[in-house]
Amino acid sequence: MRRVLPKPYIHTLLFTLVLLLGAMVMLGWLLKIPALVQVLPTLSPMQFNNALCFLIFGLCGIFYTLNWKTPYITFIVLGLLLSGLTFIQYPLGIDFGIDQLLMKEESVVQTAHPGRMAPNSAIGHFFAFLSFFLLSIGKPFYIRSAGWAGALVLGAGIVSLSGYIIDPTGGYSWGLYTQMALHTSLGFILSGAALGFTVIPKRMRIEKSRFNLWPYQVILMAMVFFIDLQIPQGVAVGLLYFIPVMVSWFFRDRKNILIVAGIANALIVLDIIFATESFEREAVIFNQVMSIINVWVAAAIFYYLKTSVQKRQEADTKFKLAVKGTTAGIWEWMDVSKDKEWWSPTFYELLGYKNEEIEASLQTFAGLLHPDDKEATFKLVDEHFEKKKPFVIEYRLKHKSGQYKWFLGSGQAIWDDDDQPKSMVGTIINIHPKKAAEQAERERAAQLEKKNKELEELTYITSHDLQEPVRTIASFSELLAQEYYDQLDEEGRQYLDFIKQSSERSQELIVDLLEYNRIGADSNMQEVNLEKLVEGVLTDLSILIQQKHAQINIDKLPLVKGHPTELRLLLQNLISNAIKFHQPGTSPEISLRTQKQNGYCTIAIKDNGIGIDQKHLDLIFVIFKRLHSRNDFEGTGIGLAHCKKIVEHHGGKIWVESTIGEGSTFYFTIPVSEA
Ligand code: ADP
Repeated sequence: MRRVLPKPYIHTLLFTLVLLLGAMVMLGWLLKIPALVQVLPTLSPMQFNNALCFLIFGLCGIFYTLNWKTPYITFIVLGLLLSGLTFIQYPLGIDFGIDQLLMKEESVVQTAHPGRMAPNSAIGHFFAFLSFFLLSIGKPFYIRSAGWAGALVLGAGIVSLSGYIIDPTGGYSWGLYTQMALHTSLGFILSGAALGFTVIPKRMRIEKSRFNLWPYQVILMAMVFFIDLQIPQGVAVGLLYFIPVMVSWFFRDRKNILIVAGIANALIVLDIIFATESFEREAVIFNQVMSIINVWVAAAIFYYLKTSVQKRQEADTKFKLAVKGTTAGIWEWMDVSKDKEWWSPTFYELLGYKNEEIEASLQTFAGLLHPDDKEATFKLVDEHFEKKKPFVIEYRLKHKSGQYKWFLGSGQAIWDDDDQPKSMVGTIINIHPKKAAEQAERERAAQLEKKNKELEELTYITSHDLQEPVRTIASFSELLAQEYYDQLDEEGRQYLDFIKQSSERSQELIVDLLEYNRIGADSNMQEVNLEKLVEGVLTDLSILIQQKHAQINIDKLPLVKGHPTELRLLLQNLISNAIKFHQPGTSPEISLRTQKQNGYCTIAIKDNGIGIDQKHLDLIFVIFKRLHSRNDFEGTGIGLAHCKKIVEHHGGKIWVESTIGEGSTFYFTIPVSEA
């Protein structure tokens, strides 16, 4: 047998008390001490076998806690036999000879049935041992039944004890079948309680359920009902039903309050039917009606209170879950005239502290606030209090590691009737990663700008400085051609032509580069009439348009904000490309459409030209990138790079959609003028 050392459980103590009670009374019989057997000379005695049952019960309990199975089961059987056989002697009117088996002595006190315990005591013991027996089976249903049997034992004790409370002299009795010695009733209360402390935790553990109040509630109501039955009608005993209604407060489900009230109501009615009438009919009816009203009023009040308490608990639980679930730190400044605050666990966590490490107070907060953010933060608090300006601010707080971290702080005050701020609640959200990324981005952009500037300067200087030698090559090759062309043979002439062409092309490239560099130099935007601007462009391109028989269809164009020369270059590049890259054998058809949205207008220049392969759509905006040889189409490959730089300088975007063989549409966005 496995022995488990008992822990100091309350039920072990109760079992020991029951055991001692039994032993003490048995000793009283053996040593002939009436006070131990009877408590008071007027009260009924506890029979020897009754005391023996308590002793066996106490032992059973102790064996149970020690997990000594064999003696535990043996004693249960013994107890069941002793109590069960005693009880059936009453209805059968026979004597099994067990009453005086162990205690022949009758002379200690006078009793009605010498040596035989009262039937209700026998039932009480029987149920106590039955409870142990059911518990030993160990299955949920039996354990639950063991709980009910234990509750019955407790009930038997309480009912009997309440008889003594009504009439302490013991003269009061509920007939033969309810007579019980004073210490017997105490013994049953102890036994019932001990069974409760044993069975309930076990049941809750096995069934993973909560404490079931119902068995105890039933006993309580039975007790009130017995008292009500016994006491002549007309006395307002019905008011006692207030007690079970009050106890029903402890049910989790508030509906049970009303069920208990309903049962109490039914019991009051039953009492009217069964009890002997000793007062005037009017008084009886008045009292019972008052009892019913009492029950329902109490039930209604408890039900209402329970509803509001549960609602508050639910709200509290929700709030707690929200506090736990959110990544924001929550703070509450309970009274703005005091320094004390409350911070949620996440608040501490965000700052790297445990909550016992720092005190939640305004002073602590001020101490953690970055010196550069203090003034703005407290100024905003003042403005929030006085002018109800929203309190939302980014500030740095010192983390436990010593590093300052960025937070988004927000809060909301509660004002009293005189518009004075009373308290304030709010949150802090960790925005440090975002801020750090922004800072890194700013630094990167600044660096990029610096690099671009350097590059631009370099391009400018080199192209500017290149201009001179290229020009020299061009003019000397020109001179060479003028003076010595005829003297050169065919090959020499061809070489000279190559030099001339290349130097001209170099000059072109240098001019383009210098122009590209200049884009963005002017930062002053002005209102530009696109309509007029396009008119000018078309005039400039009129010869080309005529040559290619181009048809150009133009929407009404808006006023935009920008740099006129740059925008002119942009439109000129796009329109001339649309004409230039037309399909051989067809005349170009070009349209210019506009659409306004969110302060920007999108301009689409559509052609029916050769189109662009999807995979080159981005490439064509790169400087000096061309998709065709100079023999097919004239150009340096800088036009679209210009366009991109111009559009981006205006804060817009440029892109192209195209199908090869069908045509292309170039889109760009530009801010419209507010006027
Ligand atoms: P360039 O016109 O000097 O060649 P761009 O930068 O203007 O240089 O154009 C780059 C390339 O993009 C062109 O060589 C051409 O292949 C392609 N492209 C530009 N516009 C069009 C268009 N409307 N239709 C077809 N292809 C185009």
